Amino acid sequence: MSMLSVDGIDAYYDESHILRELSMEVEEGEICALLGRNGAGKTTTLRCIAGATPPQVRRGSIRFRGEDITGQPAEDVAPQGISLVPEERRVFPNLTVEENLHLPEVARNVSNRFGRSVATTESGMSLDDVYDDFPRLDERRNQTAGTLSGGEQQMLAIGRALRQPTQMLLLDEPYEGLAPQIIETVERAIERIRDSGRTILLVEQNAVAATEIADSAYVIDAGEVVFDGTADELAADEETRQRYLGV
Ligand code: ATP
Repeated sequence: MSMLSVDGIDAYYDESHILRELSMEVEEGEICALLGRNGAGKTTTLRCIAGATPPQVRRGSIRFRGEDITGQPAEDVAPQGISLVPEERRVFPNLTVEENLHLPEVARNVSNRFGRSVATTESGMSLDDVYDDFPRLDERRNQTAGTLSGGEQQMLAIGRALRQPTQMLLLDEPYEGLAPQIIETVERAIERIRDSGRTILLVEQNAVAATEIADSAYVIDAGEVVFDGTADELAADEETRQRYLGV
């Protein structure tokens, strides 16, 4: 059984039909790259999986560890172990690094107190483990998040997602706007997260960087899957790369 199984979904923003019979499988413990041009539907796919609205899924199904999560709201999907790190890397700029990392815990306690039972048996990563994975955050525990560089904010957004009981991380363009050296730091961190047993779905414009660390890959165009295979197969497939990724 796949960790994530998307089966023939059609997704819409109002009447605008974006994803067309899109299917994909992500196996436990792998990095799967989801690639495609601007506007191909990558973010829309992540939003459908995470239960963010809009878009609206009108056909097909999404299963996570065998459970049907199609159409469930984000607040029900997240506790089952799926964390979305959106493109805008929402960190709280006036809080310190450490305060940002404490937020998932605070939010959990508050919702428990108000009777919303959070159905989870697992806990997220400890603060120490996050600092081990991201030494830069460790050095900057007391710095306000708004003054971090773009790469550091990205690390903080990922670190915060990992403080939740995450089995699957959905990363939307984590390399955007980062210098090559910082991309490498984020890449190593993503690999360590995979090596700790978590599953990663990685959306990227930077197809070369994404396929370097990915195990499997999907390419979508106009909301349809046009390639599905291993990352090595994609690296060797000149035609697909040129036609849909421009590399
Ligand atoms: P990029 O790489 O540019 O981020 P993407 O592959 O992630 O692109 P999506 O953001 O999923 O693409 O967008 C797919 C299509 O859906 C685009 O044509 C976009 O204009 C449209 N779209 C996205 N969000 C909305 C929305 N809230 N309302 C209406 N249309 C939308």
